[in-house]
Amino acid sequence: MTDAAGGDQWVRAVAADGQIRVLAARTTGTVETARRRHGTAPTATAALGRVLTAAALLAVLLKDDQKLTLRILGDGPLGGLVAAGLPDGRVRGYVQHPDVHLPLRPDGKLDVGGAVGRRGTISVTRDLGLREPYTGSALLVSGEIGEDLTAYLWQSEQTPSLVSLGVLVNPDGSVRAAGGLLVQLLPGADPEWARRLEANARSLAGISRRVDDGLSPAGMAERVLEGFDSRILAEGEVRFACGCSRARVEGLLAALGREELTRMLEEDGGAELTCRFCGERYNFGADDLRRLLLREA
Ligand code: ZN
Repeated sequence: MTDAAGGDQWVRAVAADGQIRVLAARTTGTVETARRRHGTAPTATAALGRVLTAAALLAVLLKDDQKLTLRILGDGPLGGLVAAGLPDGRVRGYVQHPDVHLPLRPDGKLDVGGAVGRRGTISVTRDLGLREPYTGSALLVSGEIGEDLTAYLWQSEQTPSLVSLGVLVNPDGSVRAAGGLLVQLLPGADPEWARRLEANARSLAGISRRVDDGLSPAGMAERVLEGFDSRILAEGEVRFACGCSRARVEGLLAALGREELTRMLEEDGGAELTCRFCGERYNFGADDLRRLLLREA
């Protein structure tokens, strides 16, 4: 499936001779597309939006033919969350139980931590085109996703990081604003910088509000790097896009084999397959199944 681009954007900036790296993104349209495709309730929308945004921030650091998958598996009602990203800013993802919505927290925010659960794991798989993809994982800290990813990056990848992710949902359930920020100290960085970056990042707290105020990804990078000598190195579009297609789904169907195809034809008179990542439905009628069976013969 492909959806029209929604004006979402990412930027990559560096400061202090490349020892500080910043990724920032606005993902409002991307998260709204995910919401419509999966029919998510507000708390699920916020959780899925945060993992999609995180996947975008991490994936744009990859090289051309590489890909990344972020998985969160907590003990809360949402079940698992999966988001996959490509270096060109395309992301896709799903949540196991899209209809989950919890009462708002006392501070009026969506209770993402309660919905994800506070026990569980976060894992990141990078497929770098080598024989085996590399997976690292860590225990969840709060289920709020931003804090969990921060802990993962420190523990599993030994990269001191600050992560801020946010999704603001309208009263009608649609996505009002979404975005994220990732700040990393690379080897050689002065540990003292962390305090300044943290203080700068505090001025961006509630990042979806800042996006709603009109702050651009470049503006977020500039704000968090205030006081450092910084520049934007790269920028691009973020959008929800899935690599599934009718041809690919037909290939999966054919791979089920003669016996299963015959059973589907006789019992159901066809087959409907739904892509888990984007919710796209692919219908195959009796004639389609007969054609596949002929090809199998
Ligand atoms: Zn799909």
